[in-house]
Amino acid sequence: MYFYCHNQIMENKPISRTLRMLSQLMELHDVNPFKIRSIANAAFKVDKLPYPIADKSLEQIEKIEGIGKSIAAKIVELRDTGTIAEMDELLANTPEGVVEMMGIKGIGPKKVAIIWHDLGIENTGELFYACNENRLIEVKGFGLKTQEDIRKAIEFRMASNGKFLYAQVEKEAGELLDALKALFPSGLAEFAGDFRRLCEVISELVIVLGSRDQEIAFTTLLQSTVLNNVTANGNHISGELPNGLLVDIICVEKRYFYKELFLQTGNDEHTEAVLSRITDVIDQPESEELIYIKSGLEFMKPELREGDIYIERAENNALPVLISYHDLKGTLHNHSTWSDGVNTIEEMALYCRDTLKLEYLGMCDHSKSAVYAKGLSIERVLQQQEEIDHLNKKLNGFKIFKGIESDILGDGSLDYPEEILKKFDFIVASVHSNLKMDEEKATARLIKAIENPYTTILGHPTGRLLLSRKGYPIDYKKVIDACAANKVVIEINANPLRLDLDWRWHQYALEKGVWLSINPDAHRNEGFADMHYGVIVARKGGLYKERCLNALSLQEITKVFNQ
Ligand SMILES: [Zn+2]
Ligand SMILES: [Zn+2]
Repeated sequence: MYFYCHNQIMENKPISRTLRMLSQLMELHDVNPFKIRSIANAAFKVDKLPYPIADKSLEQIEKIEGIGKSIAAKIVELRDTGTIAEMDELLANTPEGVVEMMGIKGIGPKKVAIIWHDLGIENTGELFYACNENRLIEVKGFGLKTQEDIRKAIEFRMASNGKFLYAQVEKEAGELLDALKALFPSGLAEFAGDFRRLCEVISELVIVLGSRDQEIAFTTLLQSTVLNNVTANGNHISGELPNGLLVDIICVEKRYFYKELFLQTGNDEHTEAVLSRITDVIDQPESEELIYIKSGLEFMKPELREGDIYIERAENNALPVLISYHDLKGTLHNHSTWSDGVNTIEEMALYCRDTLKLEYLGMCDHSKSAVYAKGLSIERVLQQQEEIDHLNKKLNGFKIFKGIESDILGDGSLDYPEEILKKFDFIVASVHSNLKMDEEKATARLIKAIENPYTTILGHPTGRLLLSRKGYPIDYKKVIDACAANKVVIEINANPLRLDLDWRWHQYALEKGVWLSINPDAHRNEGFADMHYGVIVARKGGLYKERCLNALSLQEITKVFNQ
């Protein structure tokens, strides 16, 4: 006689889980549905057994209702060898990222199969990007709601790794700081750490709190509801935001606030480099500026406080005047309904002119190889250009430039014959396919595209998707040198998932004389707002307006495009 016992059921879990996985893989690969159903049912059955199935012989397992001969053999195979050959074979034919996507809540194997085969998406990062670009709504069996559910599920998974995109936490961080200021009206509170340094990925939100009485600050915070799971340790109060972001609040007496803020903002290398220059003690500076003055340096904005990159320039009073959002005069690299965008060209132009007060809009719909994104055939390129000519006549001085985001093909060539390429005002050349090349091949491919006389801008140079997909490996120096030699501008793709060219390479590009362009890659009007994040990383990279392509006025950029 068997009794239902928690432990016994748990022992069956690995077996039922493997059977379930097998049935999902079969569904993904479109195996006979009858077979799939019988395995899924067996998994369910194994879960419900009141005894450990692994203790039974093959003959006994075969006799269990709902299992049968062939599945019993699989269970015994799994027990004896640790795996099932049929499953291994299916796994070998499935990219790792596709297997991972099956674990996302709300999409079963059937949907993953469509995502994989019809959209060419092979991992969670690409899927998240596709959701943000609205690629799923028109796919059969999907729709806006499914797309939103998938997007949220992925966001949730990303958060469970403890890391967040800057853009994902910006709003909540601001609200938390406001709440703290309200709790301590006579205190001082400011962000520090990687958030204040405008890093692209945030793993902890650090805040320095200067309060006259530390004891009271502790108690107040512990009793307030601004944070979840609050704990105190020394002068740190830790907790979490509802989205899971860890928060570390450092409480100091008010008179130590600026020193602590300085110490908690720059990375270690930076603060050491600055402090090593100070001879007298400054324990209670009245501002951060004072610390820099005492070290013989120009004041350094938090986003520049990485290592000692800018120390020499700060010493010579030669820090760049960092670019700001209002320096941008136009926006290049955007997608309309002609390819995979949501708004028409006219809607985008009016939005840029009337709401964003910009002077020009560069349209760069996808080129013909990007079939998944409704890339433009030659015929449609010509039709689109006619439409742009027509719109330009009625926009009163605002200008739409005719561009294209041309796929860089596997061999580095662009996607149209020369007579079409020459019809564009400018061309953004980007890699969207064959992302798995080694460094040498990927670099050579990019350089060939850079050397093409029609390439104006190199789009998202590594194809990375932050927190989810590494970019293809490239030799940055060679690629940047090639851009310098061929007068090709490098894009800072402003999508918070991309921020590619990485800010760590902006200085090298600027030194080589390369121009950068802050491109939102907008697929709808709301997408233009990403330029804010592009500006943030550009500042971190030390970009100034004189070297930013879309900080040029309409008149100036027209001249550049005509050359
Ligand atoms: Zn692209
Ligand atoms: Zn694009």
